[in-house]
This record gives sequence, structure tokens and C-alpha cells, in this order.
Amino acid sequence: MHFQWYPGHMTKAKRMMQENIKLIDLVIELVDARIPVSSRNPDIDELGRNKARLIVLNKADLAQEKYNEAWTEYFKDKGYVVVKVNSKKGTGIKSIQGVIQKACKEKIERDRKRGILNRPVRAMVVGIPNVGKSTFINSLAGKACAKTGNKPGVTKGKQWIRLNKNVELLDTPGILWPKFEDQNVGLNLAFIGSMKDEILQIEELACKLLTFLKQYYAGILAEKYEILETEDAYTCLKAVAKQRHCLLQGNELDTEKAAGLILDDFRNGRLGKITLEFPSNNH
Ligand code: GDP
Repeated sequence: MHFQWYPGHMTKAKRMMQENIKLIDLVIELVDARIPVSSRNPDIDELGRNKARLIVLNKADLAQEKYNEAWTEYFKDKGYVVVKVNSKKGTGIKSIQGVIQKACKEKIERDRKRGILNRPVRAMVVGIPNVGKSTFINSLAGKACAKTGNKPGVTKGKQWIRLNKNVELLDTPGILWPKFEDQNVGLNLAFIGSMKDEILQIEELACKLLTFLKQYYAGILAEKYEILETEDAYTCLKAVAKQRHCLLQGNELDTEKAAGLILDDFRNGRLGKITLEFPSNNH
């Protein structure tokens, strides 16, 4: 599923977010564990100020465990409560409720001091398109699934999912737009398939991915496609076309098809667990 943003989309998304955020105590921000920075929109820090914050490294199953750990530390250092999950399989979902309590500790404490006991924490899931918001909500709701009625102040049709007696989740996620004007962010989003492939020519995109993989994940291309990683990216692409019998009429190599195949293999985890972005001081 690809997404295209227009200024109208962004204005509407921001307005919805500003409205809904008033109703909640906790922002559950989903990021893609393979590109935790590129899949964020830092505007959420402004939109969600004064709210409790939780960062979910989603699709952790597609990323390298050592980098999941490193990113967890990175966000913890910045003061967020962090958890890594695979929403599709449900791995890590069980721990969410405890983590929510942790993220909301100050709020709960504040309530208690004011004599307010047992007021449920209200939460909203936010993130860029395709990061897994619906899958995550379904996975969480699957465990509880008792929907509460409409509440005053909530736009009609919006519902709260009661996760337990302490937590209620807005059933509609907030959509953030990515920082796609940053070239590197755009490239990372294109790699994972969240941007239209036309943004870059598909062969060029595949070559950039090959270059990255040769540098940071030495050996996986050689193993998967039986190619020589010492060659330049385009030669590697041709070698993949040859190895996978991607041929045009007249036996010419179909590098476009090979490019699609490589991107597809990567996106579906068939090249293994690959993190594209590493924590560093630049972020
Ligand atoms: P949304 O646009 O943020 O609501 O994203 P979706 O929930 O529609 O998910 C986008 C795609 O990512 C779907 O194909 C999901 O099956 C897939 N997906 C979501 N979470 C995970 C996860 O943790 N691991 C993997 N491997 N795939 C996931």
C-alpha cells in the first residue's frame, strides 16, 4: 500500500490529531523498527506535549535484534518509554498494558494526589501510513475487545476500546505524515515500500539498496543470489537478473524485473532481518 500526501491531507490529518489529542492522556507512537527515525514525524513532540508518551518499535520481526536493542536505549535516553512488538503475530503485545501503566505513572500519581482513583488512562495510537497502526490496534483489541459507548466530546462514530479497567484506547489512529522532503527519509520509506516506487526509478532504488546491503550486511546478497558483492551495484543487479532468469525477448536481461524482485524479497523479510537506520548522534 502506497501513500501520497497532498497539503489538504496534511491539514486534515493535523486538525484531527489536534482534536483527538485533547481527549487523551497517552500518545502511543508507532515507528517502523527498520527505520525508527525516518518513520517518525517530529511534529508529534509538539502536538503531544504534556501527554504521556510511549514509543512502539513495530515490525521488530523484520529488523535486527541488536539494533532493536540499540534503538530502545536511544529512545529511553530521550525520556520515552519504549517497547518492541510484532503486531502481526502478536509478539510483545501482552506486555503493552504494563508498559502503558509505566508510561502513565506520573499521571496516575497526580490523580491519586488529587483523590482521583481508578480513572482509566485514555490513549491514542499515532504513526505514519503503513507503520502498522490498524494491525496493532486489532492485536491489542483482540485481547480485550469490549467497546465502550460514545463519549461526550468524541466525534460521532468514534469509539473507545476498553483494554482493561485501567486503559481505554481510541479506536481510530492518528495519522502523521512522514518528513518526506528529507531525501534520505524518502529513500528509506521507498525501500520499505511506503512511498510510490515512481519517486525513484525502481532500478535506481534497487541499486541503492544493493549498495547499502553490500556495505552493512556483507554476505547476504552473495548467499541469496549467488552473486559477487565486490562488483558495483548495477553489475550485481544484472547478476541477479541472470541468476533469477529475468529475461526480455532476445535474452536481454530484464533488470527492471530483477529490481522489483530484490525489493520484494527485502520488504517481505526474505533477505533476513535488516535494519536500515542506526542510532547515531545525528538524530
Ligand atoms: P497502518 O496504515 O499504519 O494502519 O498499517 P497496517 O496496520 O495496515 O499495516 C500495514 C502492513 O504492515 C500490513 O501488511 C500489515 O500486515 C503489516 N504489519 C503490521 N505490523 C506488522 C509487524 O509487526 N510485522 C510485520 N512483519 N508486518 C506488520
